[in-house]
Amino acid sequence: MKAFDYFDPPTVGDALAALAGKSDRVRPLAGGTDLIVQLLRGALEVDGVVDVKKIPELNGIVYHPGEGLTIGAAVPCHRIVEHADIVKMYPGLVDAVALIGGNAVPRLPSDVREVPSRIDDPATHGEGTNNAVSAGIPGGI
Ligand SMILES: Cc1cc2nc3c(=O)[nH]c(=O)nc-3n(C[C@H](O)[C@H](O)[C@H](O)COP(=O)(O)OP(=O)(O)OC[C@H]3O[C@@H](n4cnc5c(N)ncnc54)[C@H](O)[C@@H]3O)c2cc1C
Repeated sequence: MKAFDYFDPPTVGDALAALAGKSDRVRPLAGGTDLIVQLLRGALEVDGVVDVKKIPELNGIVYHPGEGLTIGAAVPCHRIVEHADIVKMYPGLVDAVALIGGNAVPRLPSDVREVPSRIDDPATHGEGTNNAVSAGIPGGI
């Protein structure tokens, strides 16, 4: 992986300044599950990343009855599913967010153990063929 600069701006204004005029060579970094993985694989090359996780303006969850809900761009999923107002007023959002990072689509070796037990179950699939493993899913899709 090529070396790159790491920016840790305290405000949105500082983040925008770090990104300005850099096109895609400097990118925002949130959880990193896409960006860091692509950098590690060499699928992407950047000159820098701008970590947005510590910017207070991007970490807010604000619910105003009658007006709506605002979720900051750096809010992690676990805070959404645990937020009392969201649980009460937006259960569909909680359902959707709870799927992210789940093992419905296994991509990590630790998740694969659960796939054969479902796919090989003759009661539901008859043939007992381990299609998920033979399709190469354990290495990632
Ligand atoms: C091994 C692995 C397993 C996964 N498993 C699942 C799963 O089970 N279920 C599922 O739903 N998803 C899964 N994913 C996908 C993962 O959830 C997404 O990659 C995730 O939503 C990306 O969010 P992030 O915060 O990590 O983004 P990052 O990786 O930090 O960023 C992703 C992109 O968004 C840009 N970006 C980040 N923040 C901002 C911002 N504020 N403004 C503008 N652009 C921004 C970045 O520059 C980058 O281009 C998996 C990914 C991996 C690598």
